[in-house]
Amino acid sequence: MLSVCFAPNGISFARDLIELRTDHFIIQYHPDIKHEYVRKVKNMCEELYRKITQEFKLVRDELWLWENRAQVFIAKDRDDYLNRFECPPWSSACVNYHGKLIYTYPGQKNISSMFAHELAHIIFREYAGWGRLPLWLDEAIAMYIEDKYNTTSYRNQLRILKRLISTDSYIALSELGELSAPELQGKSEDYVKRFYLESFSIVHFLIKRYGRDRFSRFLFFLRTGDDFEKSLSKGFHPLRNMNDLERQWKRFYQK
Ligand SMILES: [Zn+2]
Repeated sequence: MLSVCFAPNGISFARDLIELRTDHFIIQYHPDIKHEYVRKVKNMCEELYRKITQEFKLVRDELWLWENRAQVFIAKDRDDYLNRFECPPWSSACVNYHGKLIYTYPGQKNISSMFAHELAHIIFREYAGWGRLPLWLDEAIAMYIEDKYNTTSYRNQLRILKRLISTDSYIALSELGELSAPELQGKSEDYVKRFYLESFSIVHFLIKRYGRDRFSRFLFFLRTGDDFEKSLSKGFHPLRNMNDLERQWKRFYQK
């Protein structure tokens, strides 16, 4: 199951939580939660922060220090999570990207992949800015990072992607590039699955074909204000535009 990307409005009922400050995070947790679990979350967050920043050289102007640290809120259990935070009932975690706030509860599988996904969103957006970027790119970067910590890897699903391409049932990249989050929410489950898998596959292709350094350069051009297509052509020359990308991407997976 994919991580939830949702942004609750505020911090409610955090008064009785215990606070633990680490280098880059402020963790607030319910007093009944075992110290061992909190220590695990703390170490994991700090390691992910370092690794995600290093992966694509996402060096930002503002460090996560002092009051600029990200905050992680951990409820006692699922009931407490639903009562305390304004998160949707089907979620296992939710995030406010602008506020760098993550809400969750203990006892979940794949906690490191979940945190990897959400922290990648926060760190990437802080790096690239909050301007208009394709939704698929945002998700793809988060999934690419998540994939490194996931036991059920997206890479293993690329054979499904190959089938989508060979049967011409993939989402055209022109359509993919225009999709907004509310539009995606209105789509069928099958469409949403294709959206995520395709998004991941594009970033996977670009890094395999052009290398991680050139991908980092592409992200750097986005950061300095070039629009998506310009960053694409500067980062992955001789690839010029979305049509070229779609052609090369299809060829790569048809092999
Ligand atoms: Zn996401």
